[in-house]
Amino acid sequence: MYRIILFFILVFNLCFNACQGDREAILSIDGRKSGSLPYIMKGGHAYIRADKAAEALTLAYGSDISFNRTWDKILVLVDPGHGGHDTGTYFDVKTTRQEHGKEITKTRRMTEKDLNMLYAFEIKKAIEADPRFEVRLTRETDVFLSLPYRSYISKVVAADFFVSVHVNSLGAKRNKECPKSGFEVYSISENALNALPIEDGKSPKKRKKQMEFLQRNAENSYVLAHFIAERLKEAEIPIYSDKNVFTADFAVLRRSQIPAVLLETGFLCNAEDREKLESDEYREKTAQSVYLGLLDYAEESGYIRNEQ
Ligand SMILES: [Zn+2]
Repeated sequence: MYRIILFFILVFNLCFNACQGDREAILSIDGRKSGSLPYIMKGGHAYIRADKAAEALTLAYGSDISFNRTWDKILVLVDPGHGGHDTGTYFDVKTTRQEHGKEITKTRRMTEKDLNMLYAFEIKKAIEADPRFEVRLTRETDVFLSLPYRSYISKVVAADFFVSVHVNSLGAKRNKECPKSGFEVYSISENALNALPIEDGKSPKKRKKQMEFLQRNAENSYVLAHFIAERLKEAEIPIYSDKNVFTADFAVLRRSQIPAVLLETGFLCNAEDREKLESDEYREKTAQSVYLGLLDYAEESGYIRNEQ
């Protein structure tokens, strides 16, 4: 059955203009205006119909986040990190060949944003082979999206899981070979949650409740990350360090209200990993592990009931 979801918008970086009077508001995120949105007031909060918000934001951002999810499927929002002017990490690969006795060197730049996009489509393919799942991408083209906005999309489309895709590097150095290699799976650290700023107008009781919710979600995210890491190990994918799951403070995961993980699919500063990151086989194999990890979690936590 099609449900109408009303959201309380609690994303920072987000504000209402013209909230008074005619009950039409313009939503502004990253300075981009959404167009006019009808809203209702309830208990001191402004609520927007999710389908309307999705429509307006699609117009404002140009990336399709249309709200037409199928409620009997599990919706995974896959987020290809970076985009537009933000290339993420990069590596200039040099190749030399001899031509008419001369040595010709060519440089090709591998950028994280492009690799992330390729990988996101691979995960989409792996997950959607299972008809119980559907996948949306936060971006399908080379556009820049802010971190709060990526997380916000998961609310607008009412996603069940959030998977952000990245490629690793060693510090801020570029074009330097590094000995580190392997896949990493992250979830948000509890310390990061404790450091979250108090939202305006939140009573201590409400803040406590919200923190408890975010903490529970961080624990669930850790379990999801663990399932994915286990499946990667099973497929004999090298994982960086023997720690299965890393926890860290990533802005894109910080306020997620659904189980959320961040994948570092390999180190761009490592020659072996670079080769893997461009290989269809590696992408297919690891994307399959990500799907299986999601499936394990979905079964374990009752998203999917196994009928026997
Ligand atoms: Zn990144």
